[in-house]
Amino acid sequence: MGSMRHFNFIRNPSAKDVGCNVEQFLHFLGGPACLLLEGHDASRTRAFVSLLHGNEPSGAIALHRWLVSQQSPAINIVCIVASVDAALTTPVFSHRMLPDMRDLNRCFRPPFDGSQGKLAEEILEILHLHKPEAVIDMHNTSGSGPSFGVCTHMDRQHDALVSIFTQRLIVSNLNLGALMDISEHSFPTVTVEVGGRQDEEAHALAYEGLCRYFMAETVLAQGETDWGLELLCDPIRLELNEGVSLTYGEQASERHDITLCSDIEHHNFGSVSADTQLGWTKGPEQALFKALDAGGSCALHKLVRVEQGQLYAAQALKLFMITNNAAIAQSDCLFYAVANDGSTICS
Ligand SMILES: [Zn+2]
Repeated sequence: MGSMRHFNFIRNPSAKDVGCNVEQFLHFLGGPACLLLEGHDASRTRAFVSLLHGNEPSGAIALHRWLVSQQSPAINIVCIVASVDAALTTPVFSHRMLPDMRDLNRCFRPPFDGSQGKLAEEILEILHLHKPEAVIDMHNTSGSGPSFGVCTHMDRQHDALVSIFTQRLIVSNLNLGALMDISEHSFPTVTVEVGGRQDEEAHALAYEGLCRYFMAETVLAQGETDWGLELLCDPIRLELNEGVSLTYGEQASERHDITLCSDIEHHNFGSVSADTQLGWTKGPEQALFKALDAGGSCALHKLVRVEQGQLYAAQALKLFMITNNAAIAQSDCLFYAVANDGSTICS
């Protein structure tokens, strides 16, 4: 086991220690932190991970609220609050990560290079030390939108965990190095996106879900149960090619290769048809975008088509995790897509 150098370990913090608001809470933590909350049944442990992205405050807000409430969890809870430094860099909660840093939620696989890699490695070490029966990793979306869960494969345990928070589940095994990828060989782990990072509704869901997760005697499935989840399977990511410039607007920008409609995020989790215009481009789709299916084959022609400088969906699709932030679109992806009925887009 490597040396733990980043994390502060805090056991059972009292309500008066943790500050009056989330910002004071993060100052109290002083950096990446691991909080151990002792439960009524100390023989079992669950894990709650928050703030892998410094601009996604709902998880930290919910945890602070819980600590102030002075409740005790049903079983032990190990809480990770990761990107405290990025979150506290002004303006507060605006940095996904600090400049020139890797995205922490792409670092959960070897090699654990750089400070973000080391941080990810330490989070994995903490989890392996505590052997949680389940792991919830809480996030916000950059734009407004509904909540959903994400996991790498579907089974009763993952369904049960997601249903504590939301009724929509994306099953995606893209192996990007996200924390949820560990689910395959260690603990049932799901990502929960509680909604937009600036939405009160998202903060409320984060807290209500956290209370259910902390208080329940069991969070894993006890038998065959139909949770009634809406499933979205094996989405394909639409990514930009290197060096392609992007903006958002009401009409084609002269200065950018691609202009996406400024209201594109209104399509989040809705259906688009082959007639739905998504924006404008200065070139053919192959020059600007890339999209690979689960088998690694090009699926671009199934997602988008360019006609006389206008960008359309290539067929009826369901789009989600649409960003309205050009920097995120460039470093991550523009959106995810599945077939209109939620099933995998097949070649
Ligand atoms: Zn995130």
